[in-house]
Amino acid sequence: MRRERVVAARDKLLADLPVTAEIVRGSLLERTVRNHARSCAKCASGEGHRMSVLTVSYPGGRTRQFSLRGETAPQVRRWLANYQRLKESIEAICELNHELLRPDDAAAGSRRKRL
Ligand SMILES: [Zn+2]
Repeated sequence: MRRERVVAARDKLLADLPVTAEIVRGSLLERTVRNHARSCAKCASGEGHRMSVLTVSYPGGRTRQFSLRGETAPQVRRWLANYQRLKESIEAICELNHELLRPDDAAAGSRRKRL
């Protein structure tokens, strides 16, 4: 039955859920920074330099920004990807659960008529 297929698909998603604590939410941007530290010669010269910045948004429009050192950017890129994968899996499970909320007979009947 439809319901059993949905539950089986949901069980598979749960078993494959890419759970890790190495996650971070936000957007990674490249920016020219000219005032990241007084001791920075490139900033003092006005030339500035490229830095990766992680921007995290919160409800209400508040944002936090984290300037990343060179070696941290690849790590943040991996953590962002981990977050996206986990979020996509959770969303897919929610979509299956929406199917389970529909009345079984009515849904099966209307689908059969359409086909
Ligand atoms: Zn600098």
